[in-house]
Amino acid sequence: MPILRQISQLGQPILRQVARKIDDPLDPSVQALIDDMMVTVADASGVGIAAPQVFESLSLFIVASRPNPRYPQATAMEPVAIIDPEILWLSDEMEKGWEGCLSIPGLRGVVPRHRRVGFRYLNREGEQKEEEYTDFLARVFQHEFDHIQGVVFIDRIESTLDLVTEREYLRRL
Ligand code: ZN
Repeated sequence: MPILRQISQLGQPILRQVARKIDDPLDPSVQALIDDMMVTVADASGVGIAAPQVFESLSLFIVASRPNPRYPQATAMEPVAIIDPEILWLSDEMEKGWEGCLSIPGLRGVVPRHRRVGFRYLNREGEQKEEEYTDFLARVFQHEFDHIQGVVFIDRIESTLDLVTEREYLRRL
């Protein structure tokens, strides 16, 4: 049975470490971690979660975009586990958009991201895949990819004027 994991909060050193690669995606402990992250991200109304956010410094994240109370306009998709991702290319075109983070509760910020990203990864069956994401999914991907490098979204904002509380953000929708 998957269990809800505690979410690491900004200030905890694991969020600032570069996560290590996963040797064997089929290892039962990795499969159990993926299941736990799937239920944890859904329970928290997240659109993605990275392993360091559940206290595992591993190169793994879930992209689980769907409309929910925290992100009413999110793209709907089947949640996917992304293991040992490598970015293959990024569009020159950038776009600014709102982000939040389960590890930084109560805050939203405007973050510039590449509008498109191409990447290679292993799925939870251990198969190598290539994919490209655009717009909101590209934003979620880059946010989660940052987490496995020890980077969080507030590192990427251009000005503290681009930060607002979550309550204020939701009031403006
Ligand atoms: Zn985050």
